[in-house]
Amino acid sequence: MKGQAELNIGVVGHVDHGKTSLVYSLTGVTTDTHSEEQKRGITIKLGYADAIVHKCEKCGAMDTKEGKKCSKCGAAMLAVKKISFLDAPGHETLMATVIAASSVMDGALFVISATEKCPQPQTLEHLMVLEAAGIKDVVIAQNKVDLVTKEQAKQNYKEIKELVKGSPYETAPIIPVSASTGSNVNVLLLTLVNNLKQKHSNAGEPLMYVARSFDINKPGTVPNKLIGGVIGGSIVAGTIKVGDEIEILPGALRIKKEKETIIPLKTKVIALRAGSDPLTSATCGGLIGISTQLDPALTRADGLVGCVVGLPGKLPKVYSEVTIELTPLKRQVERFADVLVPNEPLVLGVGTATTVGFVLSAKKGKAQLKLKKSVCVDTGQTIAVMRRAKNRWHLYATAKLIS
Ligand code: GDP
Ligand code: MG
Ligand code: ZN
Repeated sequence: MKGQAELNIGVVGHVDHGKTSLVYSLTGVTTDTHSEEQKRGITIKLGYADAIVHKCEKCGAMDTKEGKKCSKCGAAMLAVKKISFLDAPGHETLMATVIAASSVMDGALFVISATEKCPQPQTLEHLMVLEAAGIKDVVIAQNKVDLVTKEQAKQNYKEIKELVKGSPYETAPIIPVSASTGSNVNVLLLTLVNNLKQKHSNAGEPLMYVARSFDINKPGTVPNKLIGGVIGGSIVAGTIKVGDEIEILPGALRIKKEKETIIPLKTKVIALRAGSDPLTSATCGGLIGISTQLDPALTRADGLVGCVVGLPGKLPKVYSEVTIELTPLKRQVERFADVLVPNEPLVLGVGTATTVGFVLSAKKGKAQLKLKKSVCVDTGQTIAVMRRAKNRWHLYATAKLIS
């Protein structure tokens, strides 16, 4: 099955609960390959893993392995759908990465290990991120059931039920699985395909969130042989075509002595790809790579991550100072009883961009912030706000841009 994926499934859950293992078991792709930078948690990098879902033409069983007969009845398997899993790689899964992933996912696979008491700290935080991002469709995988007794699994199931009670995920399916033995992974796949729907719309002005960018030239390539910069990410609205003139905002950011200079970028779409498949036009679903005429120095080492791509003049405005209206999360009210104080730093997640905002003034659920790095943000877009308590960053509120 060629072309792009139809569905972006975000994979979230506490560290070591088996997200990467489960993605591997579902797709055969390892998302946990990072550079040193990513291991140290400096750059946001979403790992995309595509899978082609095959369905038995006779009994409806599903599998992601190609060229196989149905393991249940022996009939032929047909390719029916391509889906893309987004893992947030890294050991200490960064909240900012999960927030970035939530801006491009259609639904989520929530991984909870049966071997630990539920909820673990990140279990709770990721649940709040999904809720804040307005993700409606979630499937819970109760993983590592090969390591626990039936009684322990039942107890853990109760804890999961208790956790989601009163949340939008109260009735989310909970599927016991083992990523290691592969047991029940097919049932999980079937549940994902049946429950998760495309959330983003192919209509309207095109908008892509940049999740990675690179320079594909070999070191030492002579200037007239250089290939233009490549950007990758997910389209969340509309369609981008080969030959389109595009704008990239905020563009190239340089911060020198606390002063920021921004170079908005315009270029042309030279080629489009979904994985290794060339496309003439691309829309919502999976990871899309755009070859451009940009100087590759601008795109190297994820230099444009956090930017948005669209047609010239059609993108939201770029802000270096914002006034936002905050809605603190119910579950965090106890942790943060106080009002925001002047100069307090907040971390904002806007699409795939992360920036620090310093409080200039705050009153009655509104705050004016000076941003360290400018962001392109639309009114109506959900902004995730993280706040520090006891030297750790916690998701504190969702916010909307006022001006
Ligand atoms: P992540 O941090 O959520 O991505 O977790 P990983 O996928 O890296 O898994 C963490 C550890 O748990 C690894 O050593 C895996 O081999 C192990 N693991 C993951 N899933 C299972 C499972 O279903 N059963 C068992 N026995 N081990 C598992
Ligand atoms: Mg992992
Ligand atoms: Zn069958």
